[in-house]
Amino acid sequence: MVQLFETHFRHGYLKINTGKKPYAINNEPKAFAYNWLFLHPMSNTDTHETDQVAILTEQHALQKAGGLHWFHWLVVSLSLLLTLGVWQYSRVQVQEKIENRFSREADQVITLISERLQKYEDALWSGVATISSHNGDMNKQQWQVFATELHLPVKYKGINGIGVIHNVPGEKLNTYLQQQRQMRPNYRIHPQHNNGYLLPISYIEPEIDNLAAVGLDVAHETNRLTAALKARDTGEAQITGPIILVQDAEKTPGFLFYAPFYDNLKTDSLEERRNQFAGMVYAPFVVHKLMRGTLEKNRRQVGISISDNGEYLYDENKKNEIDFDPNPQFKKTYAIDVYGRQWNINVWSTNAFRKETQNAQPMLILIGGILIDTMLLSLFLLLSRANRRALMFAERMSESYQHKAQELQKSVSRLETSNEELAQFAFAASHDLQEPLRTLSNFSELLEEELAGTEQSERVLLSVKFISEAAERMRNLVFGLMSYSRIGRAPTLTQVNCNTLVTHVIADLDAAIDAQLTNISVGSLPTISGYETELHMLFLNLISNALKFKKADTQLQLNIACVDKGKDWCFTVSDNGIGIETEYLDQIFMIFKRLHSQDTYPGSGIGLANCKKVVNLHGGKIWVDSSLNKGSTFCFTIPKVIIL
Ligand code: ADP
Repeated sequence: MVQLFETHFRHGYLKINTGKKPYAINNEPKAFAYNWLFLHPMSNTDTHETDQVAILTEQHALQKAGGLHWFHWLVVSLSLLLTLGVWQYSRVQVQEKIENRFSREADQVITLISERLQKYEDALWSGVATISSHNGDMNKQQWQVFATELHLPVKYKGINGIGVIHNVPGEKLNTYLQQQRQMRPNYRIHPQHNNGYLLPISYIEPEIDNLAAVGLDVAHETNRLTAALKARDTGEAQITGPIILVQDAEKTPGFLFYAPFYDNLKTDSLEERRNQFAGMVYAPFVVHKLMRGTLEKNRRQVGISISDNGEYLYDENKKNEIDFDPNPQFKKTYAIDVYGRQWNINVWSTNAFRKETQNAQPMLILIGGILIDTMLLSLFLLLSRANRRALMFAERMSESYQHKAQELQKSVSRLETSNEELAQFAFAASHDLQEPLRTLSNFSELLEEELAGTEQSERVLLSVKFISEAAERMRNLVFGLMSYSRIGRAPTLTQVNCNTLVTHVIADLDAAIDAQLTNISVGSLPTISGYETELHMLFLNLISNALKFKKADTQLQLNIACVDKGKDWCFTVSDNGIGIETEYLDQIFMIFKRLHSQDTYPGSGIGLANCKKVVNLHGGKIWVDSSLNKGSTFCFTIPKVIIL
């Protein structure tokens, strides 16, 4: 046990008492270096303080590294900024998309209104063309046929009807009335006025819906008259400003749409147009009917209001409207010229539009980004908490190791003291025993000599011989013990040329070598770093054993060799001697262990124990490969670098 500790401490496993500053335990530097720092200070006060400072510095650095730092906050802030940036970008993109959609829808509404009016204008001009094809005039029945062909309720939902207004100059009034009363005796022009023109509605289809309009003189009021004169003068279709149609029971705003026709087709100049002006095909509009069909409210997600010179023709901006949005997202105003009038059309987004275009993407990005940032921050916090806990744990472990190291150090000191005391005792005892044993041996030899030639009985002589031999054996044992205890006492590490060393050993054993029956082969041996005296003893024991345990009447073949095993030299001393039974291979290295009687092979049983101690002193290993009657090979390693 003592030896084990000695070897371990000497050769770098723990290195507690060497006074140097190893940085590793079993060559595993980082993992245990921290703990080692607590093992080491026991040996050297200066180094201890330096190490303590290093530990505290490292602990402080680790504690700092374990907390949250500016770069953690930077990462989180950057991530947050990125989230806000992406959110803002996505919001703008979505807003732009929705705005474009609104613009498209609003433009579409305007286009539809324009197209619809265009379509009605076409209907009026087709009426004009039909009149022309009837040589400038048509009677009520013919007009009825034409109007029926138009399929007004189906194709022209916006108009109340289509009719004909005649320009009746004063001199032709009677003729006109006669003509009209042929089929309608009650026909009359109304209301009376002094505006200088007579522009009565002669017939309108379907008449049943427009009875109130039949005979109405559109010249009776300025709005209707102005548009009519404008149509006359321009030759183009015109509409009136907002009016309430006489035939509209609901009294909602509307307008009249005129297309003029002339007696003569040549109407290039204003004068010609005024002179030839025969009348107008007209259509009364109720604006809310204009919105039927493709412009129906449920077909769009925008609200519309139409005003003419500040007067509303149509207005959906009312609380009771479906999908009314008191605070619309988007609004747009169009000023469009419509057949001689200017309409202001306001378009705005409705609640349906808001619902339809609701886009959760920016909000999802924002929430997702904030969630990720929160998770990132939590992760940092968790990591820093884990770091702090790991540090606390490491500190606790260090303290525990420090305590254990101190305990171990004490044990080692105690062991070393007792080891030293034991070695001293063994040396002193064996040294002091030498003298009385030598005396005993000398006197027994003397007694033997004196008894020789006398008539003492053979039994006495034999007893004296036994005493003498026992004293000799005892001396050998004590000598062996003394040499064993001497091994490793203040050895000096030198460069040892093993070839020279082995040559010297063989020379020392020269007397014991029977040249006839011995063949010694020594390979190329290296020069190694080691303890020369001890190595000499090692080879001496191994070679002398080979000489001793040779087979009788067989030439001894002794081979000494060495191979390079990287970190170690591996020496072998092999013989073709009597060999060793397998079960004893480990035991023979124990002190006083012998496998033979003194009579067969004399010896002390200390030789191989010495060998083992020498190899251990160098930090190597020793073992034997052998089988009975087939020789033995003793192997031992010597590290190339001896750790003190
Ligand atoms: P001893 O004084 O008996 O030689 P050692 O410690 O040197 O003591 O050897 C212990 C025992 O190991 C020996 O008694 C012997 O039985 C065995 N032994 C040692 N070397 C050899 C060898 N080369 N061949 C066979 N047996 C050996």
